Amino acid sequence: MASACSSSSSSASRFEKIPSTSIRVLRSVESVRRWRKPHLLDHRSVGFVPTMGALHEGHLSLIRTAARENHHVIVSIYVNPAQFGVKEDLASYPVTWEADSAKLAALDREMADDGANLGRISAVFMPTTADMYPSGFPGQEVDSKGSFVTVTPVGEVLEGASRPTFFRGVATVCMKLFNIVQPERVYFGQKDVQQTVVINSLVRDFMLPIEVVVGPTQRAADGLALSSRNVYLGERRRGVATVLHRALKAAEAAYASGARDRETVLGAAKKVADDTLSAQMALAPEKRVKFEIDYISLADPTTMEELTVVDPAKGGILSGAVRMLPVEAPQEGEDLGHSGGPLVRLIDNIILQPS
Ligand code: AMP
Repeated sequence: MASACSSSSSSASRFEKIPSTSIRVLRSVESVRRWRKPHLLDHRSVGFVPTMGALHEGHLSLIRTAARENHHVIVSIYVNPAQFGVKEDLASYPVTWEADSAKLAALDREMADDGANLGRISAVFMPTTADMYPSGFPGQEVDSKGSFVTVTPVGEVLEGASRPTFFRGVATVCMKLFNIVQPERVYFGQKDVQQTVVINSLVRDFMLPIEVVVGPTQRAADGLALSSRNVYLGERRRGVATVLHRALKAAEAAYASGARDRETVLGAAKKVADDTLSAQMALAPEKRVKFEIDYISLADPTTMEELTVVDPAKGGILSGAVRMLPVEAPQEGEDLGHSGGPLVRLIDNIILQPS
């Protein structure tokens, strides 16, 4: 990790930076506070993009938006253990600082030539778990004791039902990060739509003086939502991983053609999922991909409660999660994906805009 950053002895660059850039690498709460203070006094706005690293175009698009709207952009890279369940993929979550710092440097060069930007990437914050949990890490159990922020009922449904500690972990770490960085604006992706509803509630209910900006979901050419977890898929499963997006598109099309009731809208999605699975099961074990739909939801855009009928004046959120199971009968030399191709849980959503 150290090789990607430089700490030169010259006074002009006495701070750790990403090489060939002016992006400061901040590793402690204290260093962020020192970096932040002069911008506050100078009335320079700060936009904050929290991430868990393994950066891709989804993250970069949020950083681009933040640079258009703020004098300074700070990105955090922190894999927060509190939002992983005890049985989830924390240990194998991709940590790719060399590639991440190269992407931030390339984006910074690109942004230097874009006159529409107000600011650039000024800093990246990479805390440790000891920094983020000063009283000690409370653990990943549902009944762990510690200082937590919970946002219910929205944090208990859908993703929260499948991953009971997830939104508690997200809300808690975001509250900590917001208090450290004290940004004017924070940037989140629509890809994690329930997370944006939780963060909006957090900001509103705790009177945080922050504007929440939601950026559109960035997708691969075939429609798969970009995700740091896609590296686990490998080639065989990558081809079928678009099933959730295709299913949600079918539901969106049913709504666009006039359907308003849950059964018809979600029935269209279910048909795509069922047909895709049947086609896979007709293949030989060394060719096929098995998956399980965790849920497909049609929910209210502010509460995420399930809808039986969509009110077009309010719109709705179509969302889902799919478990891509490890491949059967792996072949000699087959690309199974990062960490040997474990079970991968993918999420996606489409917003039915109010008319
Ligand atoms: P993560 O590193 O996965 O925690 O994501 C950090 C931020 O990037 C979150 O606000 C995500 O919603 C956002 N993000 C992740 N994937 C995408 C995507 N494909 N398009 C837009 N934003 C995304």
